Amino acid sequence: MAEVLVLIDSVNGNVKKSSLELLTAARALGEPAAVVIGAPGTAAALKDKLAEYGAAKVYVAESDEVDGYLVAPKAEILAAVAGQASPAAILVASTPENKEVAARTAFKIDSGFIADAVDVSADGSATQSIFGGAVSVSSKVTHGIPVVSLRANSVAAEPAPGAAEEVSVPVSLSDGAKAAKVVDRVAEAKGSRPSLQDASVIVSGGRGVGSADNFSVVESVADSLGAAIGASRAATDAGWVPHQMQVGQTGVTVSPQLYVALGISGAIQHRAGMQTSKTIVAVNKDAEAPMFELVDFGVVGDLFKVAPQLAEEISKR
Ligand code: FAD
Repeated sequence: MAEVLVLIDSVNGNVKKSSLELLTAARALGEPAAVVIGAPGTAAALKDKLAEYGAAKVYVAESDEVDGYLVAPKAEILAAVAGQASPAAILVASTPENKEVAARTAFKIDSGFIADAVDVSADGSATQSIFGGAVSVSSKVTHGIPVVSLRANSVAAEPAPGAAEEVSVPVSLSDGAKAAKVVDRVAEAKGSRPSLQDASVIVSGGRGVGSADNFSVVESVADSLGAAIGASRAATDAGWVPHQMQVGQTGVTVSPQLYVALGISGAIQHRAGMQTSKTIVAVNKDAEAPMFELVDFGVVGDLFKVAPQLAEEISKR
């Protein structure tokens, strides 16, 4: 069976959930083979998890140099591994950095790149969801090894044992790969809340919240549930919360167990990013808000009255 290369993302020695989803999706196309690129020691910490999620092989490209540069080394290494393995496809998670890696890799191996897919099929075609989920496009790379970026939460990660046979990849970066160097890294201030992509519960606020200060109402519901905080584009565009919190077509795609929407109308572009949530709850003072078409539980009311009661009641349990 042909290999399917999966570029692995990790943080603090843990494989990111999106990479586990890729390993799961890869099984539809062939035998998953993880590609770990990073500083020495990166792969050792990840190997058990990669085996648990079905990686038959783990290509390990480790060097102190790799971390010091932007995307170009990853593309160079991924293209080299592709040359060696002749895989059926290359999958990366749809992050801005990975999409650049993917596009550069496709260029280097003379193939095509499909961005932001929500599914991949055994015949190598990829599905993209466009116009806010109104249209599904099925595309296929017609030349060379398809390179596909898959949106987070499109596929549920499922364990399947893999041998995780380690294959060492020599790292010798070209001058071109070293053209842009990282000069500083500043960790984002992080609270105790889970990240939006990984959270199983998300509480989001929209224009109905009214101001940055009022987002404390959203925070208190989120805190009572141990949830991540999201927002509509209206709220992020207003500067009430950072753009990284935007859920939707041009924001993050999420698929938590529970999604609570406070003061969000349910525009198609917002729904595109959260409509696959398992249970959806909305509070909106407008009974005609489109979000109510989607919800499992809806409360027609003023969020400033309903949300504090909700937080208080949940905190008691
Ligand atoms: P509104 O539509 O203004 O809704 C506010 C809601 O709050 C209303 O339903 C109102 O009844 C309710 N409300 C007001 N006060 C209260 C109260 N006190 N209590 C309870 N309810 C109250 N949007 C996204 O979210 N994500 C995206 O990724 C995204 N991408 C886009 C891409 C494109 C190309 C375009 C054109 C638009 C995109 N948008 C996106 C914007 C989208 O079309 C909507 O404008 C946006 O989602 C609206 O945000 P909202 O629901 O918070 O605001």
